[in-house]
Amino acid sequence: MDLTEAKKGKISDATELIRRGATLLRESCPKCGGVQVRYKNRILCINCDDLSNLSSLEMSSISELTTNLGELVTSKIQKLYDALSKEEDLDKQARIANLILLYMDIMEKVKKSK
Ligand SMILES: [Zn+2]
Repeated sequence: MDLTEAKKGKISDATELIRRGATLLRESCPKCGGVQVRYKNRILCINCDDLSNLSSLEMSSISELTTNLGELVTSKIQKLYDALSKEEDLDKQARIANLILLYMDIMEKVKKSK
């Protein structure tokens, strides 16, 4: 593949990203002056970054996902806390308490994965 072909490839990769929801940025790349796009909260340069490897780009959004998961679990724990404080039934208390433990376990893992 010669340089022109490589360049064409990069442009079609960028087009593919935009089709998937990436947006073109006004600012050009500080390193090479190339076109930058924003994709899943990441800024990518069509020259410096390998846009053809979309699965690795998707993978990096896992950290974003764990952040969201952490927030979700926190709000769930808060709701369970309210439910537990109002609950009189011992069996239901046990179920809520178990659920809280489960969510706290997830929280720990989310924290460790950062
Ligand atoms: Zn660049």
